Amino acid sequence: MSKTAQSVWNNCLEFIKDNIQPQAYKTWFEPIVAVKLTDNALSIQVPSKFFYEWLEEHYVKILKVSLTKELGDTAKLVYIIKMENTYGNKQPFTEKIPSSNRTAVKSQDVDIPLNNKSPELKNPFVIPGIRNVKIESQLNPNYSFENFLEGDSNRLARSAGLAVAAKPGGTSFNPLLIFGGVGLGKTHLAHAIGVDIKDKYPEKTVLYISAEKFTQQYIESVKKNNRNDFIHFYQIIDVLIIDDVQFFSGKSGTQDVFFHIFNHLHQNGKQVVLTSDKAPVDMQDIEQRLLSRFKWGLSAELQHPDFETRVSILKNKLYRDGVEMPNDIIEYVAKNIKTNVRELEGAIISLIAQSSFNKKEITLDLAKQIVEKFVKNTKREVSIDYIQKVVSDYFQMDIDTLQSKTRKRHIVQARQLAMFFAKKFTKASLASIGSQIGKRDHATVLHACKTVDNLSSTDKQFRKYVEDITKKLSV
Ligand code: ADP
Ligand code: MG
Repeated sequence: MSKTAQSVWNNCLEFIKDNIQPQAYKTWFEPIVAVKLTDNALSIQVPSKFFYEWLEEHYVKILKVSLTKELGDTAKLVYIIKMENTYGNKQPFTEKIPSSNRTAVKSQDVDIPLNNKSPELKNPFVIPGIRNVKIESQLNPNYSFENFLEGDSNRLARSAGLAVAAKPGGTSFNPLLIFGGVGLGKTHLAHAIGVDIKDKYPEKTVLYISAEKFTQQYIESVKKNNRNDFIHFYQIIDVLIIDDVQFFSGKSGTQDVFFHIFNHLHQNGKQVVLTSDKAPVDMQDIEQRLLSRFKWGLSAELQHPDFETRVSILKNKLYRDGVEMPNDIIEYVAKNIKTNVRELEGAIISLIAQSSFNKKEITLDLAKQIVEKFVKNTKREVSIDYIQKVVSDYFQMDIDTLQSKTRKRHIVQARQLAMFFAKKFTKASLASIGSQIGKRDHATVLHACKTVDNLSSTDKQFRKYVEDITKKLSV
């Protein structure tokens, strides 16, 4: 029996279906149409360039394996992108893209006439093709509200999250911006909102994405000349969650495209959830028009959890892991690790690991050793280089600028702060600090330390710099 495109593809689908999540299968494979099979090359039709890239990015291996199973080592795969063009002209256009060379599925140009007469090609996907597609949410089900312990430090953000999840797009918390320092639960809470919405409204399209990934995708789309596909893709989402939007700073192209996506979603009553390591007022190199959008909804801060909350977070974690631990030990850990929930959990995990690997009982002494290591380790990592990096990142300048001879006030202040923190966090002498931070002498460093002391007691904004950077250096 000779093979047809349909039969080959059906067999591939069967294999793929068995090996990936049902949701992903539905989203990315059901919309594909097998078009033809010539010379061991299978042509499949996909609804957009974005779709093709997504397949290449995420499913190329499984495509290759399944196709090789069907057609042998010489199997080839050709994508045909079929969508309407973006100028409102209803004529469909077709574009052939061979499967990339990254795959061993070799590429080949296959002749598909533009005016194909077959019925499914006459009936192109509506703009954008991807509209028919379910999108994988990229949510982590473990990051639920249930697992996000409430305390004074997070009550506002958590309640706002719950409100948004109950009525996505239907509260005044749009966008909801969650901000706070490292390891305080921003990512967790952002997922929890998405997970809860998916639970309550399974038909809604929810997407969690980091700002970094979003930026990469955008840059790719510009390179590949399908910025419109990129925008369309994001405009059909009901709940868009973007993590760590501070990553957008200085990236004007991405900010611009996000601005348009944001406006579209907002106008259509869709929910936007953002997280950031800074409050909007402290964000630098973010366009004003975007910042003002961030402030339309609610900005809710995650603060450092108090002692009680730290204890309950630990107890909850232990309970979920089925581990028992004496109270005094839990409290000891909670008392000593204060500024970062991730570290708090890390210490407990090391404690459990140590005790089970070395068959030691979990004692207060062991806890002390481990906490000490945690605290010491993080202290030891602070070098003068690292301090300069943190300070210059914070002010969004590069280290050369920080070290330069300029007298511009904000640069001088950044340099003085770097010196101040070098004095505070390292054992280096004033002279050595000076020589490492822009080749200055010890008197300059001394002066810098005094200036920082003075300014932080008289200038509120400056004190905030010191606090922020201290936090960054202590995690
Ligand atoms: P961020 O994104 O702010 O850096 P994460 O969301 O990654 O922080 O949180 C770090 C870790 O701390 C995660 O494992 C998260 O589950 C945990 N965590 C943070 N806050 C809480 C909380 N209130 N209750 C339970 N776990 C928390
Ligand atoms: Mg995070």
